[in-house]
Amino acid sequence: MAIAAHPDDIEFLMAGTLLLLGERGFELHYMTVSSGNCGSMTMPPERTRRVRKSESMGAAKILGAEYHKSLTDDLEILYDVRTLRRLAAVIREVGPNILLVPSPQDYMEDHTNTSRLAVTAAFARGMPNFRTVPARKPVDCDVALYHGMPHGLCDQLRQKIVPEIFVRTESVHARKREALAAHNSQKAWLDATQGMDSYLRVMDEMSLELGRMSGIFRHAEGWRRHLHYGFSGQDEDPLSDILGALVARVPGE
Ligand SMILES: [Zn+2]
Repeated sequence: MAIAAHPDDIEFLMAGTLLLLGERGFELHYMTVSSGNCGSMTMPPERTRRVRKSESMGAAKILGAEYHKSLTDDLEILYDVRTLRRLAAVIREVGPNILLVPSPQDYMEDHTNTSRLAVTAAFARGMPNFRTVPARKPVDCDVALYHGMPHGLCDQLRQKIVPEIFVRTESVHARKREALAAHNSQKAWLDATQGMDSYLRVMDEMSLELGRMSGIFRHAEGWRRHLHYGFSGQDEDPLSDILGALVARVPGE
Protein backbone atom coordinates (compact mmCIF):
# COMPACT_ATOMS: atom_id res chain seq x y z
CA MET A 1 0.00 0.00 0.00
CA ALA A 2 1.22 3.48 -0.88
CA ILE A 3 -0.05 6.51 1.04
CA ALA A 4 1.04 9.95 -0.13
CA ALA A 5 -0.15 13.51 0.34
CA HIS A 6 -1.24 14.66 -3.13
CA PRO A 7 -2.48 13.17 -6.37
CA ASP A 8 0.74 12.51 -8.40
CA ASP A 9 3.09 12.16 -5.38
CA ILE A 10 2.87 8.36 -5.62
CA GLU A 11 3.74 8.53 -9.33
CA PHE A 12 6.77 10.74 -8.67
CA LEU A 13 8.32 8.76 -5.84
CA MET A 14 6.78 5.33 -5.31
CA ALA A 15 5.14 3.98 -8.45
CA GLY A 16 8.15 2.02 -9.73
CA THR A 17 8.38 -0.01 -6.54
CA LEU A 18 4.62 -0.54 -6.53
CA LEU A 19 4.71 -1.80 -10.13
CA LEU A 20 7.51 -4.25 -9.31
CA LEU A 21 5.50 -5.58 -6.36
CA GLY A 22 2.45 -5.85 -8.60
CA GLU A 23 4.45 -7.90 -11.12
CA ARG A 24 5.26 -10.31 -8.31
CA GLY A 25 1.60 -10.84 -7.56
CA PHE A 26 1.10 -8.45 -4.67
CA GLU A 27 -2.22 -6.68 -4.24
CA LEU A 28 -1.61 -2.93 -4.56
CA HIS A 29 -3.44 -0.07 -2.84
CA TYR A 30 -3.20 3.63 -3.73
CA MET A 31 -4.26 6.50 -1.51
CA THR A 32 -3.55 10.23 -1.30
CA VAL A 33 -4.64 11.98 1.89
CA SER A 34 -5.46 15.22 0.04
CA SER A 35 -7.80 15.72 -2.89
CA GLY A 36 -5.36 18.08 -4.60
CA ASN A 37 -8.06 20.79 -4.71
CA CYS A 38 -5.54 23.66 -4.79
CA GLY A 39 -3.69 22.22 -7.77
CA SER A 40 -4.99 24.66 -10.35
CA MET A 41 -4.51 28.35 -11.19
CA THR A 42 -7.70 28.51 -13.22
CA MET A 43 -10.25 25.91 -12.08
CA PRO A 44 -12.26 26.39 -8.87
CA PRO A 45 -11.54 23.94 -6.01
CA GLU A 46 -14.62 21.73 -6.48
CA ARG A 47 -13.83 21.19 -10.13
CA THR A 48 -10.12 20.69 -9.43
CA ARG A 49 -11.01 18.08 -6.82
CA ARG A 50 -13.19 16.24 -9.33
CA VAL A 51 -10.64 16.40 -12.15
CA ARG A 52 -7.80 15.23 -9.93
CA LYS A 53 -9.85 12.38 -8.53
CA SER A 54 -10.53 11.08 -12.00
CA GLU A 55 -6.85 11.52 -12.97
CA SER A 56 -5.78 9.64 -9.83
CA MET A 57 -8.21 6.84 -10.53
CA GLY A 58 -6.77 6.61 -14.05
CA ALA A 59 -3.22 6.50 -12.67
CA ALA A 60 -4.14 3.84 -10.08
CA LYS A 61 -5.64 1.76 -12.88
CA ILE A 62 -2.42 2.02 -14.93
CA LEU A 63 -0.49 0.89 -11.83
CA GLY A 64 -2.93 -1.96 -11.23
CA ALA A 65 -3.73 -0.61 -7.76
CA GLU A 66 -6.98 -0.28 -5.88
CA TYR A 67 -7.87 3.40 -5.44
CA HIS A 68 -8.85 4.76 -2.00
CA LYS A 69 -10.63 8.10 -1.59
CA SER A 70 -8.77 11.09 -0.18
CA LEU A 71 -9.69 12.43 3.27
CA THR A 72 -9.08 16.16 3.12
CA ASP A 73 -7.79 19.06 0.99
CA ASP A 74 -4.47 20.70 0.13
CA LEU A 75 -2.76 22.53 3.02
CA GLU A 76 -5.38 20.99 5.33
CA ILE A 77 -3.51 17.76 6.02
CA LEU A 78 -3.09 18.23 9.73
CA TYR A 79 -1.86 15.79 12.30
CA ASP A 80 -5.24 15.62 14.03
CA VAL A 81 -7.25 12.81 15.57
CA ARG A 82 -10.11 13.16 13.08
CA THR A 83 -7.85 12.40 10.13
CA LEU A 84 -6.01 9.75 12.11
CA ARG A 85 -9.21 7.83 12.89
CA ARG A 86 -10.24 7.84 9.22
CA LEU A 87 -6.81 6.86 7.93
CA ALA A 88 -6.48 4.10 10.53
CA ALA A 89 -9.82 2.68 9.34
CA VAL A 90 -8.45 2.40 5.78
CA ILE A 91 -5.26 0.75 7.01
CA ARG A 92 -7.30 -1.78 8.99
CA GLU A 93 -9.42 -2.51 5.92
CA VAL A 94 -6.36 -3.11 3.76
CA GLY A 95 -4.06 -4.72 6.36
CA PRO A 96 -0.89 -3.97 4.38
CA ASN A 97 2.33 -5.91 4.92
CA ILE A 98 4.37 -3.21 3.20
CA LEU A 99 3.46 0.44 3.59
CA LEU A 100 5.12 3.08 1.41
CA VAL A 101 4.84 6.54 2.95
CA PRO A 102 6.40 9.98 2.39
CA SER A 103 9.68 11.12 3.85
CA PRO A 104 9.39 12.45 7.42
CA GLN A 105 11.55 15.36 6.21
CA ASP A 106 10.45 17.28 3.14
CA TYR A 107 9.94 20.85 1.91
CA MET A 108 6.19 20.77 2.46
CA GLU A 109 4.09 20.19 5.57
CA ASP A 110 1.39 18.23 3.72
CA HIS A 111 4.06 15.64 2.98
CA THR A 112 5.56 15.52 6.47
CA ASN A 113 2.12 15.48 8.11
CA THR A 114 1.05 12.63 5.82
CA SER A 115 4.16 10.75 6.84
CA ARG A 116 3.31 11.19 10.55
CA LEU A 117 -0.37 10.33 10.05
CA ALA A 118 0.44 7.15 8.12
CA VAL A 119 3.00 6.04 10.72
CA THR A 120 0.55 6.48 13.61
CA ALA A 121 -2.41 5.02 11.73
CA ALA A 122 -0.29 1.93 10.99
CA PHE A 123 0.89 1.81 14.60
CA ALA A 124 -2.76 1.74 15.75
CA ARG A 125 -3.75 -1.06 13.35
CA GLY A 126 -3.94 -3.69 16.12
CA MET A 127 -5.00 -1.58 19.11
CA PRO A 128 -8.57 -2.48 20.10
CA ASN A 129 -8.93 0.66 22.22
CA PHE A 130 -8.17 3.02 19.36
CA ARG A 131 -11.46 3.88 17.68
CA THR A 132 -11.45 4.30 13.92
CA VAL A 133 -14.02 6.11 11.80
CA PRO A 134 -15.79 4.20 10.41
CA ALA A 135 -15.32 1.52 13.08
CA ARG A 136 -13.05 -1.26 11.85
CA LYS A 137 -11.77 -4.26 13.76
CA PRO A 138 -8.08 -4.21 14.67
CA VAL A 139 -5.83 -6.32 12.46
CA ASP A 140 -3.01 -8.55 13.60
CA CYS A 141 -0.32 -8.28 10.96
CA ASP A 142 3.28 -7.19 10.68
CA VAL A 143 3.78 -4.14 8.53
CA ALA A 144 7.11 -2.82 7.27
CA LEU A 145 7.14 0.93 6.68
CA TYR A 146 9.35 2.49 4.04
CA HIS A 147 9.76 6.24 3.70
CA GLY A 148 10.17 7.60 0.19
CA MET A 149 12.59 10.31 -0.82
CA PRO A 150 11.77 13.99 -0.33
CA HIS A 151 11.46 16.27 -3.35
CA GLY A 152 14.87 17.55 -4.31
CA LEU A 153 16.40 14.66 -2.35
CA CYS A 154 17.00 16.98 0.61
CA ASP A 155 15.17 18.03 3.75
CA GLN A 156 13.49 21.36 4.47
CA LEU A 157 16.80 22.69 5.81
CA ARG A 158 18.56 21.83 2.54
CA GLN A 159 20.43 18.86 3.99
CA LYS A 160 20.90 15.94 1.63
CA ILE A 161 18.88 12.80 2.37
CA VAL A 162 20.50 9.50 1.39
CA PRO A 163 18.34 6.39 0.94
CA GLU A 164 18.98 3.21 2.87
CA ILE A 165 17.98 1.07 -0.11
CA PHE A 166 17.67 1.69 -3.84
CA VAL A 167 15.12 -0.14 -5.97
CA ARG A 168 15.99 -0.56 -9.63
CA THR A 169 13.08 0.72 -11.71
CA GLU A 170 14.30 0.68 -15.35
CA SER A 171 11.96 -2.15 -16.31
CA VAL A 172 8.86 -0.28 -15.10
CA HIS A 173 9.92 3.31 -15.78
CA ALA A 174 7.77 3.66 -18.91
CA ARG A 175 4.66 2.58 -17.01
CA LYS A 176 5.51 4.84 -14.08
CA ARG A 177 5.76 7.71 -16.58
CA GLU A 178 2.44 6.74 -18.13
CA ALA A 179 0.80 6.81 -14.69
CA LEU A 180 2.29 10.25 -13.99
CA ALA A 181 1.09 11.50 -17.36
CA ALA A 182 -2.46 10.56 -16.33
CA HIS A 183 -2.34 13.72 -14.18
CA ASN A 184 -3.00 15.97 -17.18
CA SER A 185 -4.12 18.96 -15.16
CA GLN A 186 -0.78 19.20 -13.39
CA LYS A 187 1.54 20.11 -16.19
CA ALA A 188 0.19 23.64 -16.52
CA TRP A 189 -0.02 24.10 -12.75
CA LEU A 190 3.55 23.00 -12.09
CA ASP A 191 4.92 25.06 -14.97
CA ALA A 192 3.22 28.14 -13.53
CA THR A 193 4.03 27.65 -9.84
CA GLN A 194 7.26 25.70 -9.67
CA GLY A 195 8.98 26.80 -12.85
CA MET A 196 9.19 23.25 -14.05
CA ASP A 197 9.28 22.81 -17.83
CA SER A 198 7.78 19.41 -17.66
CA TYR A 199 6.76 17.35 -14.72
CA LEU A 200 7.57 14.19 -16.60
CA ARG A 201 11.16 15.35 -17.00
CA VAL A 202 11.39 16.25 -13.33
CA MET A 203 10.40 12.68 -12.46
CA ASP A 204 12.91 11.31 -14.99
CA GLU A 205 15.69 13.44 -13.52
CA MET A 206 14.96 12.40 -9.94
CA SER A 207 14.86 8.77 -10.97
CA LEU A 208 18.18 9.09 -12.87
CA GLU A 209 19.79 10.95 -9.96
CA LEU A 210 18.79 8.15 -7.57
CA GLY A 211 20.17 5.69 -10.11
CA ARG A 212 23.48 7.57 -10.06
CA MET A 213 23.47 7.62 -6.24
CA SER A 214 22.99 3.85 -6.21
CA GLY A 215 26.21 3.45 -8.20
CA ILE A 216 24.79 0.56 -10.23
CA PHE A 217 21.28 1.25 -11.49
CA ARG A 218 20.17 3.62 -14.22
CA HIS A 219 16.73 4.42 -12.80
CA ALA A 220 15.95 3.97 -9.11
CA GLU A 221 13.63 4.85 -6.27
CA GLY A 222 15.09 5.38 -2.81
CA TRP A 223 13.68 4.19 0.51
CA ARG A 224 14.48 4.45 4.20
CA ARG A 225 12.97 1.93 6.59
CA HIS A 226 11.06 3.12 9.64
CA LEU A 227 12.34 1.70 12.92
CA HIS A 228 10.54 -1.61 13.55
CA TYR A 229 9.16 -1.02 17.08
CA GLY A 230 5.40 -1.61 17.03
CA PHE A 231 5.39 -2.60 13.38
CA SER A 232 7.38 -5.76 12.65
CA GLY A 233 10.31 -7.91 13.65
CA GLN A 234 13.65 -6.18 14.04
CA ASP A 235 15.35 -7.11 10.80
CA GLU A 236 12.33 -7.35 8.54
CA ASP A 237 12.97 -5.89 5.12
CA PRO A 238 10.37 -7.42 2.83
CA LEU A 239 11.21 -5.13 -0.10
CA SER A 240 14.75 -6.49 -0.22
CA ASP A 241 13.50 -10.07 0.27
CA ILE A 242 10.93 -9.78 -2.50
CA LEU A 243 12.84 -7.72 -5.05
CA GLY A 244 16.22 -9.42 -4.52
CA ALA A 245 18.73 -8.29 -7.15
CA LEU A 246 16.65 -5.21 -7.92
CA VAL A 247 17.64 -3.79 -4.53
CA ALA A 248 20.98 -2.22 -3.65
CA ARG A 249 21.75 -1.31 -0.06
CA VAL A 250 25.07 0.51 -0.18
CA PRO A 251 26.02 2.88 -2.99
CA GLY A 252 28.49 1.22 -5.33
CA GLU A 253 27.94 -2.33 -4.10
ZN1 LIG B 1 2.88 16.55 -2.94
